[in-house]
This record gives sequence, C-alpha cells and structure tokens, in this order.
Amino acid sequence: MSTEAAPAGTTSRWIKCISTQGTVRGIAIQATDLVRELVALHKLEGASARGLGEAVMAGLLLGSYCKEGERVNLNVQGTGAFSQALVDAYPDGRVRGYVVERKGGSQAAARVAFEGDFPDGPWGSGLLSVLRTKDGEGERPYIGTVPLVTGHLAKDLTFYWAQSEQVPSSVGLVVDLEGDSVKAAGAFLIQAMPGASPTDVRIIDEHIAQTHDLAMEFEGATDPLQFLSRIFRDMSFLLVEERPLRSYCNCSWERVERALSLVGVQELRAMLAEDRGGSIQCDFCSKTYHLDALALERLIEKSGGGPGNSTLH
Ligand SMILES: [Zn+2]
Repeated sequence: MSTEAAPAGTTSRWIKCISTQGTVRGIAIQATDLVRELVALHKLEGASARGLGEAVMAGLLLGSYCKEGERVNLNVQGTGAFSQALVDAYPDGRVRGYVVERKGGSQAAARVAFEGDFPDGPWGSGLLSVLRTKDGEGERPYIGTVPLVTGHLAKDLTFYWAQSEQVPSSVGLVVDLEGDSVKAAGAFLIQAMPGASPTDVRIIDEHIAQTHDLAMEFEGATDPLQFLSRIFRDMSFLLVEERPLRSYCNCSWERVERALSLVGVQELRAMLAEDRGGSIQCDFCSKTYHLDALALERLIEKSGGGPGNSTLH
C-alpha cells in the first residue's frame, strides 16, 4: 500500500481498495476540506457550492484510476443549474475545477434544481465528456462522451462507466449543506472487475443500497476506510492506496501572455486605448493577472499575428 503525508490542515484524501480475489475494487473520498476550499475560492454558496463539489469529486473519481503522467478533464454541459462544469484531475490527487452558472440564472435557480422537483435532475440534459490526456507530445488523447440521462451526476457517471469503459460501477457523490455552507463532502466508486461473479455484484449492490444515509457517512472526520469496510463487509479486501487530495492550478504569467498574444493585435490595442491596460482572470483558481500599459505595449510589439482564440488553460 502506498501512503503519502497529507498537507497540513486537510483531512481530504482518498482510499482505494480491492477484494482479495481481485474481482471488486473501490475508492472512497473524504473531501470536506477540499470542497470548502474550492467553494471559498469561487465564492459560491448553497446549491452552487453543491454543484462544484459534485463536479470536483466526479473528476477525482475519474482521475483516480489514471496512470501516472495522465490527467482527466471532465466536461459537463447541461440544461440544468449550470451551463458547464470543467474539472482537471490527476491520479496523484491534484484537482482544479469550476462551474458556470446558467446565464440569467442565480444561486436561487441552482437551489430549485438541486432541492426542488426539477424534472431532469439538477444538471439537466446535455453531455458528459471525459478526456484522458497523457503528458508529453504525440500522445493521442482518449475521449468518451455520454448523454446526461438523468441529470444526476452520480447516476450519469455510472452510465458513463458502463457505456464508455464497459465497467459495471456504482457511484455516489454527496455534498451535505448546513445553511449555505458545506457541512460534509464525500464520494465513492465501486467497480466489478473481469471475473466478478453475479453473486459478488449482487452482494455489493445490496450493501450499497443499505447505506441509506450517505451524508452521515462523510460528516466530520469519518474515515473513508470505514465506509469501504461497510460496503465490502465480509468480502475480504486489501488496501491499495491512501492519498491526500489538494487543489492546484498551473496558470502563470507565461500562459496569460501566450493567451493574450492570440487575442490579436487589434484587440490588444483596444484594451490599451480604453483602459491603459487590462486584466485576465483564471477561471480555475480566480487569480487575476493585471497588465499595465507598458506590459500591454510590449505584448503588442511581440505579437503582430492575426486574430485567434484566447485561452488561459
Ligand atoms: Zn489558475
């Protein structure tokens, strides 16, 4: 089993295990601190905080079984409370992500979607895409896309694993709120591996069904291992990995300049003329990069190319 010391002040981590027969594997995530941190970064509360928490943990579940050097990009585009969620996650437990609240929508609209009687589930209908990329040049990314069938992210992820990766899975995502604050956040993924008998699958399904109050399971400092023990029960299992989770972002001045140089000289000149400078904010971590007039002039001189797409990521 591999373990790693958690950064100070966080209890957020995942624990992975596999049955001794190798037929069932599971991961449980305790992410209360991590989700609180990201929610504060994006200044979200209530149902919007819940949406971000769900998306981030979904990304972590997807990233958890990547190989080293790979990363996962989860892109959810729906008609529900959010028009989009984007999450990048690594198998070493790093994650970043954001949600785009529906235009003209509000946190109140998100609340209706999550807590009210929303016909399509809070995420609505749309598409769920998972892009797996390997660091380094020349590697072909793998992309799997499924429709949002229920508008509930956990259920639609179950569908993703069945459809796109042919792995029978059970997924849970919980963000429990107290007022508008995050009280607890946790997630799990249990998967039947090749060789799993129908009995194995039935037993695990029954145990999951009996875990009726998932929120309770993840409150406070509940150990994700305890959760897995309750799912596996008398099916013996091995602990494979315990890993701390942390938010990260790789935005930098260089990336900002590269993104701005693609905007086009004319737009840069307009920025210079209008505001004697400009600023650009990273969607993932909310960091703002300010460019004064001099920096902008330097950039205009350096670029000189035609218009293009601006992206910071
Ligand atoms: Zn950033």
